[in-house]
Amino acid sequence: MERCSVEVSTRGYWQSHQCARKAVLTIEGKGYCKQHSPDRRAEECKRQQLDYAQERHFSDLKWQGEKFFEALLKISRGHNDPRQLALDALRNITGDKG
Ligand SMILES: [Zn+2]
Repeated sequence: MERCSVEVSTRGYWQSHQCARKAVLTIEGKGYCKQHSPDRRAEECKRQQLDYAQERHFSDLKWQGEKFFEALLKISRGHNDPRQLALDALRNITGDKG
């Protein structure tokens, strides 16, 4: 396979040179080594972040959902301080420090 096509600048040199690594994938006719495959790395990074955020969101909903349900149940049964109950339920929600 061909060489990685990415130009890299080396500290201490004024000129950049072509990466010496072997290309492991080709995007639009240009070879990229493992380290310089930008699209895949960016995509993977983005996907991982998205997965994490999504997971976080769902687990939040899962946990908080139960708490909300409890709170609603108490309110529906005539809890005498529904506002405080709601505040308690919301207390540990991400981004809410009230
Ligand atoms: Zn490279």
